[in-house]
Amino acid sequence: MAAPTVSTAHFVNGSFTDSDGERIDVINPATEEVIASVPAGTQRDADAAVQAAASAFEAWASTPLSERVAAVGRINDGLRARAAELAATITAEVGTPIMFSSKVQVTNPVGITAGVLEVVESGALDPVTFGNSTVVRDPIGVVAAITPWNFPLQQMVAKVTPALVAGNTVVLKPSEVAPLTAGLLAAIIEEAGLPAGVFNMVHGTGPVVGEALAAHPLVDMVSFTGSTRAGRRVAAVGAETIKKIALELGGKSASVVLDDADLVRAVKITVANSYMNNGQACSSFTRLLVPGDRHDEAVEVAAAAAAKYVPGDPTLESTRIGPSVTAAQRDRVVGYIRKGIEEGATLAAGGPDPVEGQERGYYVRPTVFGNVKPDMTIAQEEIFGPVLSVLPYTDDDDAVRIANGTQYGLAAGVFGADADRARAVAGRLRAGQVDINGAAFNTKAPFGGFKQSGNGREFGRYGLEEFTELKSIQS
Ligand code: NAD
Repeated sequence: MAAPTVSTAHFVNGSFTDSDGERIDVINPATEEVIASVPAGTQRDADAAVQAAASAFEAWASTPLSERVAAVGRINDGLRARAAELAATITAEVGTPIMFSSKVQVTNPVGITAGVLEVVESGALDPVTFGNSTVVRDPIGVVAAITPWNFPLQQMVAKVTPALVAGNTVVLKPSEVAPLTAGLLAAIIEEAGLPAGVFNMVHGTGPVVGEALAAHPLVDMVSFTGSTRAGRRVAAVGAETIKKIALELGGKSASVVLDDADLVRAVKITVANSYMNNGQACSSFTRLLVPGDRHDEAVEVAAAAAAKYVPGDPTLESTRIGPSVTAAQRDRVVGYIRKGIEEGATLAAGGPDPVEGQERGYYVRPTVFGNVKPDMTIAQEEIFGPVLSVLPYTDDDDAVRIANGTQYGLAAGVFGADADRARAVAGRLRAGQVDINGAAFNTKAPFGGFKQSGNGREFGRYGLEEFTELKSIQS
């Protein structure tokens, strides 16, 4: 695939600004070719963007809400108009199969922004009066948005559009692994005609630009999505200035198949969920919990389903699974597969060997492990590759205990024929979102984690409220 024609510069104070310094290569994970490069931003670049955002804040915060709604509406129109280009860019830099890039990676952000505008128009930011108090929702100030590569557009949009509509100004630090999608978003925002400094973007690495933003005294909030490791660091760096830190972090989500469930359907849905985006989704069901007496059958169904995921060229409409995002990520996933074998899990599909027929690209064999014990490394740590662990349980209490038995708490699934029982089990799971019987993703429902999966919520009304400060005015 040819390199996308996308601006690779920073976007500061209303214009794209190139830089002569060091650059970061962008690599297509399916071809291993360098397709572009972006500037490795410095502390000075981060500071210039923050100064621009701080200078623009007062005027933007006092711009009538209807004008902010209209501006964000124009951004959403731009996302719709450039959907095909966005999808191709995500596929080129992340390796996501083009069908998934088009149908999910681009449509979700449009839905998220539409959902935010809808709740604003129905009064989510309006003052509330009780007693002698009027409670208003003020913007927080300068918001630094730090985002990962796996759903690059969704993660950026889920922060940028609600923050802007609520009256904040923004400095975005996109992932250095997927910066071209960010360049397109910046171009769309430029075309939407927001005042200079309201939205800014600085490319670069986490330890340099990310930490400069987290530490900056003029940044009032950091909205971070990424690994628990980096989130912990952002929280520590930001603590010095008592800024608000919203964290959306990793996961190790369980799919709990109750004994009255349609096992075949539940297993197939879980495999599809676990291999989504080449196994690189924070909320993936990476642990499949099944009644012990149906374990072997579940593993057989999962292995047969996995065999239908043949790794291939992500630009083809027929491809269901592409490569891992980087060579380092591929090596990490293969390391976990080896660890699973060493610790005694049963390899039922895939494995650590290279994918046959793929000379280039960071491909991994879609893998299923059976007889996984809750304390094994592959049942505890986030792998971020196409690796599903099947764990047997004895009864509902045991299933809940295993499902809740990791440091994470992002998402979960429950499958069962008895709706009341499935809902009761869902109620006992310590996770931010629970889907019953493969229910659809809702871009207006709050998304976020319990425990070390984070402390923020995104999307819809609750996501919007994260970007506001409550103020009580007594009269
Ligand atoms: P990552 O933590 O390596 O990077 C995420 C972002 O943080 C990048 O922009 C990176 O440059 C920056 N960063 C890294 N170190 C930093 C530091 N010390 N200070 C400031 N910024 C820093 O994560 P990734 O590999 O890009 O993404 C995968 C991770 O993201 C997975 O753990 C996944 O579960 C998580 N994720 C979570 C959600 C969610 O909503 N909970 C959504 C998507 C991805």
